[in-house]
Amino acid sequence: MAKRTGSGKSGKHVYFFGNGKADGNRNMKDVLGGKGSGLAEMTNAGLPVPPGFTISTGVCTIYYKNKGKLTPAVEQEMLANLKKLEAVSKAKLGASDNPLLVSVRSGAKFSMPGMMDTILNLGLNDKSVEGLKARTANGRFAYDSYRRFIQMYGSVVLEIPKSEFEHEFEGVKASRKVKLDTDLDESALQDVVARYKKIVKSKTRKDFPQEPLEQLRGARDAVFRSWQNPRAKEYRRIYEIPDHIGTAVNVQAMVFGNTGDRSATGVGFTRNPATGAKEFFGEFLVNAQGEDVVAGIRTPNPIAELESVLPKAYKQLRQITTRLEKHYRDVQDFEFTIQDEQLYMLQTRNGKRTGYAAVMIATDLVAEKLVSPKDAVLMVEPESLSQLLAPIFDPKEWKGLPVATKGLPASPGAASGQVVFTADHAVEWSRQNKAVMLVRKETVPDDIHGMFVAQGILTATGGMTSHAAVVGRQMGKPSVVGAGSLEIDERNKTVKVGGHTVKEGDWLSFDGLSGEVKVGRVATKPSEILQVVNGEMKAQQSDIYRRFTQLLSWADKYRRLGIRANADQPDQSAIAYNFGARGIGLCRTEHMFFGEGRIPIVQRMILANNEKDRRAALAELLPLQRGDFYGVFKEMHGEPVTIRTIDPPLHEFLPKREDLMVKIARMETTGDTSSKDYAETSRLLHRVEQLHEFNPMLGHRGVRLGITYPEITEMQARAILEAACQLVKEGIKVVPEIMIPLVGDVRELRDQKAIVVRVADEVMKEQGVKVKYLVGTMIEVPRGAVTADEVAKEAEFFSFGTNDLTQLTYGFSRDDIGKFLGAYQDKKILERDPFASLDTVGVGQLVAMGTTKGRATRADLKVGVCGEHGGDPSSIFFFEKVGLNYVSCSPYRVPVARLAAAQAALQTKALD
Ligand code: ADP
Ligand code: MG
Ligand code: MG
Repeated sequence: MAKRTGSGKSGKHVYFFGNGKADGNRNMKDVLGGKGSGLAEMTNAGLPVPPGFTISTGVCTIYYKNKGKLTPAVEQEMLANLKKLEAVSKAKLGASDNPLLVSVRSGAKFSMPGMMDTILNLGLNDKSVEGLKARTANGRFAYDSYRRFIQMYGSVVLEIPKSEFEHEFEGVKASRKVKLDTDLDESALQDVVARYKKIVKSKTRKDFPQEPLEQLRGARDAVFRSWQNPRAKEYRRIYEIPDHIGTAVNVQAMVFGNTGDRSATGVGFTRNPATGAKEFFGEFLVNAQGEDVVAGIRTPNPIAELESVLPKAYKQLRQITTRLEKHYRDVQDFEFTIQDEQLYMLQTRNGKRTGYAAVMIATDLVAEKLVSPKDAVLMVEPESLSQLLAPIFDPKEWKGLPVATKGLPASPGAASGQVVFTADHAVEWSRQNKAVMLVRKETVPDDIHGMFVAQGILTATGGMTSHAAVVGRQMGKPSVVGAGSLEIDERNKTVKVGGHTVKEGDWLSFDGLSGEVKVGRVATKPSEILQVVNGEMKAQQSDIYRRFTQLLSWADKYRRLGIRANADQPDQSAIAYNFGARGIGLCRTEHMFFGEGRIPIVQRMILANNEKDRRAALAELLPLQRGDFYGVFKEMHGEPVTIRTIDPPLHEFLPKREDLMVKIARMETTGDTSSKDYAETSRLLHRVEQLHEFNPMLGHRGVRLGITYPEITEMQARAILEAACQLVKEGIKVVPEIMIPLVGDVRELRDQKAIVVRVADEVMKEQGVKVKYLVGTMIEVPRGAVTADEVAKEAEFFSFGTNDLTQLTYGFSRDDIGKFLGAYQDKKILERDPFASLDTVGVGQLVAMGTTKGRATRADLKVGVCGEHGGDPSSIFFFEKVGLNYVSCSPYRVPVARLAAAQAALQTKALD
C-alpha cells in the first residue's frame, strides 16, 4: 500500500476533464478508476460529457493513512480544479444566481455496480434552489432536485436511514393523493424539502449544511468511506478485488434529466448482455434523474421507444455508442442523460455479461473483424464458461406446469429452489444444503451474499438493468426480474403468484432465458453443450456449441500447458475427451471398488486373515479392474492415462463402526444371536475396530498400503498391464502411467516400483507383447517435494497432488477447514480457500522446488498437477509460470482450464 500511490509520478492528485480535453485517458484506470478514465477518454474523443475533475485513487489511500484527513496539497488542488470547472461552466458552486451543481461519484479501477455511493445536485441550498428556479423558470424541477439532494446527502454523508426519508415522501404522496413522484407539483416538493430538513435537524441536531464547500468535502469523504462499507467489502471478497487499491472520486457538473418531458435518463448496452445478441439494449425514463431507472421507482421503458420519444437524441446516442464499441473494441455499458433534448454521456465501460453472452459476443466480434482470435481468447473470463454447462429444465416436465407469471429474462439458466425472502435466510438455508430461490421485491447491494448462494434470483420490480439483473448476469446466476404480478408479503413470508400462495420453503422454478415462472419443483437436465458432448445432440444443431468449440480451438493455439482430466470411468473419460482433455491425469482406482457388486469382494480382501485368502479376493477383483482400465484406455485414444494405485485408508470400504454396533445391539435384543449374520457382523465390527485410526489421513494409506500388502499393488499392476496388452493386440495405442501415491521417501517408491516392474515383465512375457509404460509418483507429502531430486531417481514422472500437499503443508484438514476458514478470511489471515486456489507463496514454492529438483535429476521429467487446483484459473497461471507440462482437472472443468491455460501463456509471455 505504501508504494502504490495511484497519483502518478508527478504527485498530481486531481485530473480535469472538459471542453474537449482531459488530463487523463483510458489507460489510467489505476489512477482515475474506471469511471474517471472513461469520462476522460470520452472527453478527449469530443463526445458531449459534462465537465468535471477526478480525485485520484491515491487520495483514497491518503485518506485512510491519515485517518480521514487529507493533506493541504490535496485540498488546494481540488479547489483549483473547482475554479477551473466554474470557469468552464460559467457558473459558481452554490451561488444564489446561476448556481453550479455537481455530482460526486465513486469509481474504482474495477466496477462495483451499486456498491458505493453517488450524490447528485450538490451545491443546492435554500438560496441556490431559488437561483436554479429563476434560471430555468422551472420551480418544480428546482425543488425536485433539492429534495433528491437532501435525501442522498442525508443518507450517504449524514448516515440517516433511507427509510426515514422514504416514509415522509410516501406521506406527501398520500396527502396529495398521487402515485408517482412525477405527479408531485412544486408546492408538494417544497413540502418534501421542509420535511426532509426536519429529519436532518432531529437526527443530527444540526441544520442541513448550506455551505457548498462543506457539502463537497462531506460528499467526497463519504465516497472514500464507502470503499470500506460492508457490502463493498463483501463484493470485493467475492470478486477477489484487492482492498488496497481504493476508489477515485469524480466531481462533475450536473446535467438534468428531470426538467420535464423533453428530458430523460437511461442506461444501456451496445449488445444484449444476457444473450449476446447484436441489438441495442437498455432502458430509460422520461423526466427522471440518476438511479431512478435501476432503482425500480417507476417501471422504465425499453430503449427502443426512445426513438419515437426523443428521436434526435436517440439517433445521436446510437452513433456515439456504436463509435464507443469500435473504439474500445468491446461491448459498452453506458449511462446517459438528456436535458431538454440535448444528449450527455455520463459513463462508459466494458459491459459485464453472462458466460453465454461472452462466447456469443467474442465469436461475433471476430467475425466482424473488430477483434482478433487472440483478443477473443483474452476477453472471455475462463470461469464464465462453466455457466454454459449449467443445467436446463427437462422440457417435458417444464411444459407440464402452468406458467404462474412472467418476468424479464435477466440472466439465463434454469433455477428451481425453495423460496426464501431474505439474503440472510438464503445463506442460512444453503448452509443446510438446501437449494434456495431468493425472492425479493427488488434486490439491493446488501443482498449480495444471499444472491451468491441462491439457485436463482426472482424480483417483483425493476428492469433489465436493475441491481438484481446486473449482479445476476455477472454472477452467471439465473435471474428473472420485474415479475410485476408477484405479491410479496415479507412479514408473513408468503408470495402470491398466479393464484397460488407460496410460503417460505415451498418450491418455485423459473427459466432465466424466457422469464417464465412456475410453482413447484422441476428437474433439470444437461445444457445444450453437454448434450452434444454426451452424444445426445448433433454439433451442427447447436450454434452455441460450435462457437464454444471455436473459441476453445483458438485458445489451444496459444496455450503451452497440456490439459488432462481426473476421471475413473470410461463414460467420464469420454466426456473429458470430448471437452478436449488429452490424457487422464488421475484415475483413482479405489473409486472402481465402489462399483456395483464389488464392495463385498473388497471387504473380503480387507477381512482376510492371511495372504492366501487376501489373494483369493484380489483374484476376483482382477478381471473387474482390468475391464475398467481397458475402457478408460480406449476412450483416451492413445493419450496417456495416469493410474494411481490404491490410496484411501481401508476402513473407508467397511461399514461405519456405529452402524455395526447398532445392528448388533438390535440382534441381541431380539435374541437373534445364533444366526450367521450375527457372527459375520461381529467379525466385521472386530475388524473395523482393528482398522480404527486416530488420524486416518495421516495413517495407513497411500504407498503405505502397498508396502504392507504388496499383493494389492501386484494385482493392480497386473490389471493395468493386461488391459494394455490386450489393446496393443487389438492395434490400439496405449500409454499407461502407473502412479504411486503419498511417497515421502524415495525408498518407498523403490519398493513399489520393483513390484510393478516385475509384474509388468511377467505379463508382457505371458501375453507376448511389449507395452511402453512409466512408473512415477504423486508429490503430495512435503518431504517428497523437498527430496524431489532423490525421488526422481526412481520416478519417471511427477504429479503434484495439491489437495494433500496443501493439507500437509498448512496442516489444515481438508475436511475440517470449514470450521475456521470464515474467521481466517474475515481477519484477512487468508484471502481465499487454499484448497480451491493454490497458496502460491507456500504450497506453490514446494511445487516449484519439486519441479526444479526433479528435473535436475531427470531433465525430461514429465510434471503435472492433479489436485482441484488444476481447474482453477489463478492456480493455472502459477503452474504456467513454474513450467509444468500439464494440469489435470475434473472433466467439466476442462474447457475452463483450456481457456485459462491460453490466457496464462499469453499473459506470461507479455510479462517476459
Ligand atoms: P454508479 O457507479 O453506481 O453507477 P454513478 O456515479 O454512475 O453511480 O451515478 C449514478 C447515476 O447518477 C448516473 O448513471 C447518472 O444517471 C447520474 N449522474 C451522475 N453524475 C451525473 C451528472 N453529472 N449529471 C447528471 N446525472 C448524473
Ligand atoms: Mg450508484
Ligand atoms: Mg454509473
